[in-house]
Amino acid sequence: MAALEKAELDAQSRPKSVLELRDFSPATASDIAAVHTPNYVQGLQKLMEQAPLIVDGTGPTYATEKTFEDASLAAGAGIALVDAVVAASKGSRPPPSGFAIIRPPGHHAVPIGPMGFCLFGNIAVAARHAQNAHGLRRVMIVDYDVHHGNGTNDTFYEDPDVLFLSTHQQYSYPGTGKPDEVGKGAGEGATVNLPLPWGSGEQAMAYVTDEVIAPAAQKFKPDIILVSAGFDAHYQETIAGLQFTNRTYHKLAKDMRTLADELCGGRIVYFLEGGYDLRSLSASVADSFRALLGEKSADKVDPSLALEFEPIGLVEQAVNELRAIHSDFR
Ligand SMILES: [Zn+2]
Repeated sequence: MAALEKAELDAQSRPKSVLELRDFSPATASDIAAVHTPNYVQGLQKLMEQAPLIVDGTGPTYATEKTFEDASLAAGAGIALVDAVVAASKGSRPPPSGFAIIRPPGHHAVPIGPMGFCLFGNIAVAARHAQNAHGLRRVMIVDYDVHHGNGTNDTFYEDPDVLFLSTHQQYSYPGTGKPDEVGKGAGEGATVNLPLPWGSGEQAMAYVTDEVIAPAAQKFKPDIILVSAGFDAHYQETIAGLQFTNRTYHKLAKDMRTLADELCGGRIVYFLEGGYDLRSLSASVADSFRALLGEKSADKVDPSLALEFEPIGLVEQAVNELRAIHSDFR
């Protein structure tokens, strides 16, 4: 938020183009129950009596006495943004994009519990809300966090109406998201997992957007697009080994918005997932905002420095292997 203010991209600096939602409600137990088991939700709430504690060791995922409240509020932010974007899309002009600047993140949380810094699957809760409250049956979720969005993957694994497409660094946490994880039963083919080789950056993502994300979206014809925008694929992140730049995130935000304009009346909501280097996180979120406001990237990195080392041959090979598995990106 401080970086957005400094870059004059916040609601105060841009009263005509940026609106900050403040007075929204936390997600209710029934909103969350569309994704998580009641046992988990009640159990987590009860656990807060013992806070501070670690609720999941794989992240590890810490909780304070306010964590249940905060996680409910994060999920509620996604719901409020879906409501606002859907309401605006009924007007004559394309709606603004939604961007949930929230903590905790959500894409690792599984139906039965927390995982990897995540308590509730914010994006999954919002997807179910879009379907149940607004009749937007077909939801496409694009996840470009550096890690596999295993929680979202599991939630919709057998659901043909939610296309989940995740790019993530090969062999990274939590180890799931192999290309042959394609969904099950009626949902077979509606889960697309593309692990990227170490060092993938802007060139790789441009290729993947053109060859995988756009065709999959065009085939699926979503009613709304939701994006798990993780910023931990940035080259300054020490947690992983991809080399996205602020400008890569600018291009991704713009490309997803273009798909939403083309396919679903501009209805799109971005959700903050990972991002731990606060400088690159805030600079990349700011650059994403610029993309959504129709402005140029402010990134000053010389792209030729990083791009030279991108493993493009391996990326092409990975995309070809994925194509053999998903003969039609439906
Ligand atoms: Zn991540």
